[in-house]
Amino acid sequence: MALSSGDRHLRTDSRVRLGALRPSPRRVVVATDAAGSRTFAAQAVLALAVDLVARMFGVVEAVSIDVPSAPVIPGAFPRPGASGTGLDERLLDVARRVSGGEIEVVADRAAAGDILVWSGHGPAPRHEGLVVRAHGDGFAAFCSTERAAPAVAPRRLEALGPHLAACLAADRVFRHLRSLDVTGTFEVDLSTLGAPAWSSAERSQDLVVPPAYLVGLGAVGGAYLYTAAASRNLNAALVGIDPDIVDPTSRNRLLTAEHADVGARKADLGARLAAGSGVAFHPNRAYLAEYLVEAGRSLPAALLATESLFRYEYVLSCVDRNTSRRDIAALQPRHVVSGSTDGLRAESTYYSHAGACECLACNHPVLEADMRDMADELASLGAPERAERLRLAGASPEAAAAIEDFLEHRRCGSVGETELRRLGAAIDGPEWSVGFVSAAAGVLLAARHITLVRSGPPAAAEFRLYFTGAGSVSSSTAQRKPTCDVCGPADAQARFARRWGGSG
Ligand SMILES: [Zn+2]
Repeated sequence: MALSSGDRHLRTDSRVRLGALRPSPRRVVVATDAAGSRTFAAQAVLALAVDLVARMFGVVEAVSIDVPSAPVIPGAFPRPGASGTGLDERLLDVARRVSGGEIEVVADRAAAGDILVWSGHGPAPRHEGLVVRAHGDGFAAFCSTERAAPAVAPRRLEALGPHLAACLAADRVFRHLRSLDVTGTFEVDLSTLGAPAWSSAERSQDLVVPPAYLVGLGAVGGAYLYTAAASRNLNAALVGIDPDIVDPTSRNRLLTAEHADVGARKADLGARLAAGSGVAFHPNRAYLAEYLVEAGRSLPAALLATESLFRYEYVLSCVDRNTSRRDIAALQPRHVVSGSTDGLRAESTYYSHAGACECLACNHPVLEADMRDMADELASLGAPERAERLRLAGASPEAAAAIEDFLEHRRCGSVGETELRRLGAAIDGPEWSVGFVSAAAGVLLAARHITLVRSGPPAAAEFRLYFTGAGSVSSSTAQRKPTCDVCGPADAQARFARRWGGSG
């Protein structure tokens, strides 16, 4: 059976609790006023909000664009190709390109709908449905169903705050249309994720970051690139590494791609997005292990010398397999920042072999954690669904019975454990995922990356954003595992110290 464009957010998942769909027609209105339409901040909010909402296949049925025709500001629409010089035309074109006709897109003044997404400082227009006000500036994001955004004139050209505000607004749309309560106000300043806080002089500087490796160009890596390319005062050089091609289930969240891009290489789409931005992007259609030995690999000249010394200073990890995480950790990069999602949670974590945090391998042992996750997920399914999953993965009736026994008693070394391990990845179905969570993880990764370069390693290694209620955040630090086979041994610590001078 062909997979639908919305498969990844329409599938059932025990970790994501959603309500019933609201009745048709599930229409979303996106609007701003004349003053808002002339700011980079509002244009960046609306561009991403429309992009995300027009990917909510099977949830959103129609998108109405109600904005004045202001000139498009460079950077607000980082993905090239969309036509139109006015904000209204460009938003319509983006919505049509990502929805591919699966969602109705119309220009409509004073449109009615279930929900209105408004980005501007003036009063939102009267609307019969729920009104969501979204605003961002620099590293700060605001989203509320209760009150207007703080009346601060937008000044900055970073897209991080506007993009996170767009993610928060898209989340309100998605969960509201799934009958959940999304009322409330959420505000965050992502520049406070680093330590110490930035001075006002630092806040006004352009953002220049050293060359970095971006490993994994799927939904999170693509979102990082989207935000980096949209930030007109960011100068970066990135080595992009990903062998994958786009399939239909990527359509709901891959910001480098439009509906018609199924079959394209994710690395090539990354290059397309970055062209014309402040990001010098070097695409590599390979796994990391292949990149390392590939004579024709694409990288900035500045990294040739450091690679010859086996030094990989900044690695941005957007991979979703533990083997890939361990491949990165084995390189002993000086700094690793990851972006990841888990249901309705976006997360960014700092890893190193030094200092008070884990390395990327500490919590990602290859088999055991995967096995535990797989067993927990199977155990959470209803018996008929589990039986079907096991059958599809190729388990014989005898093997399925042994696995049922293992899930109940969890005896190590049992026949069921062996059978489960043998089925491995075949049994591990694709995870539930939706565009705004992946996009938020990309924004968090960008914030973490920039604050790391400017302020050094963060006080708390892990930062999470939860899309529940009005939204919430938490941070924490996990201690390195002395038993970790990658960073634990004394000779590994000695090698890291020789490479990087012993400090994180
Ligand atoms: Zn470790």
